[in-house]
Amino acid sequence: MNDDGSRAGKLYVIGLGPGPACWLTPEASDALAEVTDLVGYFSYVERVAPREGLKVHGSDNRVEIDRSRHALELAAAGKIVGVVSGGDPGVFAMAAAVLEALENGPEAWRSLDIEIMPGVSAMQAAAARIGAPLGGDFCAISLSDNLKPWSIIARRLEAASAGDFVVALYNPASRARPMQIHDAFALLRGLRPLSTPVAFARAVGRPGERIVLTTLGEADPGLADMSTLVIIGATTTRLIARPGHRPFMLTPRGYGAGR
Ligand code: SAH
Repeated sequence: MNDDGSRAGKLYVIGLGPGPACWLTPEASDALAEVTDLVGYFSYVERVAPREGLKVHGSDNRVEIDRSRHALELAAAGKIVGVVSGGDPGVFAMAAAVLEALENGPEAWRSLDIEIMPGVSAMQAAAARIGAPLGGDFCAISLSDNLKPWSIIARRLEAASAGDFVVALYNPASRARPMQIHDAFALLRGLRPLSTPVAFARAVGRPGERIVLTTLGEADPGLADMSTLVIIGATTTRLIARPGHRPFMLTPRGYGAGR
């Protein structure tokens, strides 16, 4: 209860993980059992089993700030709200949108009880399938952001290559943006050795999962769709052959040791 007798709401920002229930944290599943209202993009709210008393506000609205405002309004009205994201809500997902809406919203929203719950991010799930590609320093870059011009993406790919970081590329392609991943590969081919290991990890943990290990020189960027995470190795990244199994992709933790 609030001081004025009204019911205190709550807002959980929940990461659903990359897909399967086994990659949903117990904390997130407890919160999902508690919420009265679920807010999120259709394909994410659909992953939560319907139950009595749960109001689902699915949207295909790509304006995440509007969705966040709606969630904050519901919490301010006393609802127990869950805003859901795939993977981790803090990685290219709803946590930032909720905080931006909070920053620009009515003062009263600042006193709301808001809890952000981590989830398994796609790069962690993909890395585990592939071996240990993120064992050394790495960075994550999203190709999706409509507000981010290509010049910024190009600068970051160049800087990541100058720093010899492994790169995890989120949102590599969509129907509206099929070409950026081709441009990214064209750029990277001039910056890193063509023998650099590359992985396309599609729909990890979901039906239709597909892992392709290749090299920067031979990769077909057209393999990437909106369900794919692309990992591009550093100069230290290598493949460990395993007869009868897919090779492991390894980025060792240090330089030199163990070679
Ligand atoms: N918050 C999410 C990322 C949202 S951006 C997270 O932490 O994972 C959406 C992008 O994540 C997709 O375009 C794809 O690049 C990646 N992704 C999400 N789920 C995935 C999965 N199961 N397998 C491979 N990539 C996935």
